[in-house]
Amino acid sequence: MKLLFERSISGRGQEILPACDVKEYVPADRYLRKADLRLPEISEVDLSRHYTELMKQVHGVNDGPYPLGSCTMKYNPKVDEDAAALPGFTGLHPLVREEDAQGSLEVMYRAKELLCELTGMDDMTLQPAAGAHGEYTGLLLIRKYHKERNDLKRKNIIVPDSAHGTNPASATMAGFNVINVKSNDEGGIDLDELRKAVNDETAGLMLTNPNTLGIFDKNILEVTRIIHEAGGLCYYDGANLNAIVGRIKPGDMGFDCIHLNLHKTFATPHGGGGPGSGPVGCKDFLKGYLPGPVVVKDGNTFGFIRPEKSMGQVRSFFGNFLVVVKALTYILTLGAEGLKEASSNAVLNANYMMHRLKDYYDMASGDICMHEFVMDLSRMKAETGVSAMDIAKASLDRGIHPPTMYFPLIVHEALMVEPTETESRETLDMMCEIFIDLAKKAKEDPAYLNGAPYTKPIGRPDEVTAARNPVLKYSF
Ligand SMILES: *Cc1c(COP(=O)(O)O)cnc(C)c1O
Repeated sequence: MKLLFERSISGRGQEILPACDVKEYVPADRYLRKADLRLPEISEVDLSRHYTELMKQVHGVNDGPYPLGSCTMKYNPKVDEDAAALPGFTGLHPLVREEDAQGSLEVMYRAKELLCELTGMDDMTLQPAAGAHGEYTGLLLIRKYHKERNDLKRKNIIVPDSAHGTNPASATMAGFNVINVKSNDEGGIDLDELRKAVNDETAGLMLTNPNTLGIFDKNILEVTRIIHEAGGLCYYDGANLNAIVGRIKPGDMGFDCIHLNLHKTFATPHGGGGPGSGPVGCKDFLKGYLPGPVVVKDGNTFGFIRPEKSMGQVRSFFGNFLVVVKALTYILTLGAEGLKEASSNAVLNANYMMHRLKDYYDMASGDICMHEFVMDLSRMKAETGVSAMDIAKASLDRGIHPPTMYFPLIVHEALMVEPTETESRETLDMMCEIFIDLAKKAKEDPAYLNGAPYTKPIGRPDEVTAARNPVLKYSF
């Protein structure tokens, strides 16, 4: 497909700006560009066709199911988009006086209040722009806590081997050493290994529960107790909250701070690099360190404060505010009952698929899962030569987005399936039929699967080169 620059034809450009009706201000010469900006010149109809063509080349939730494990790619109700599109929200300047932004401040306050209630936290910052950014912020909270107590030898963050890659990365960026702890046979954290790993250098633990195998760690209270007894704090990676929202709270599991992925659990579409939001909640004793500004309520007025010992600001202004509007709309439209029903159905749907597929694929652990499950294709690969990658690529030809591949790292040929609560029984059955059919095909015609996909504009790109040498701008 041609790029916009390649479609450009000199003179096709359109001047559609209205005539300037204020006095022109010309910045100092040193701020002016020396050569004209090279913008593509294209007519409106060709531009429209260009983006429509682009749109047709991707797969989104509005095209079909998207069982991408650990990502919660569910259908997001359009009413949430409508709320976020209200001109009172979109037209608000971030530097407007607090008195003139009371409605938006109230949105932030109520969202924070409800998210704290759902997670068992006491306060929250809405600043971080994504989950990983939230992890980093939460770890700085932990670092600040130990520093304020002059407990400077606490340099280690314990991370289970099933963790999402962002966990060790964030811990390292926040200046900690990462200590890996093995999982036990049930897929939870190994308590003996954990006891061996903690000492007076333990700053804290990072954990997601249910974990990346889709297993709820039934020893969770013991896990957080071991960390607390060693003097560390417990950080909850809230990416998997969709499995438990409205039912149990990370705060009750013994966690001191958490991040949420509003763009997974709370109604913001993601996957294309669009704006996310990773609020960080904490217990009372940490709230003085939160990044400022934090929204507070005084009588009937809302305003911002900077917590006394704030770590500083982690993002410009107030984070991705419109994502917070969607989250609040989502929570209020579902209500307590609806949220509970959503998480229950997310778990039910995953178990339904897991049980329909278990005669065709080996499951990585157990007989029961939370909102997602991991298939282990090691045996299929050894017996037929068909890998997790092959099945994933072939599922593209059948109109569904592939599951997450090769994650968690502790399962070698992993395919991680998260159907989400918004898919119907019929769609779950359709997905199961596709996976069952592909498992049969692996035995009958492995070469066919090795070559998939056959219907897509790109088949198997060189992902290493794409990551190492990305071409991010057009070279004229
Ligand atoms: C998605 C995810 C993250 C990171 O969140 P981003 O918003 O993508 O930065 C962290 N942990 C887990 C378990 C995740 O699934």
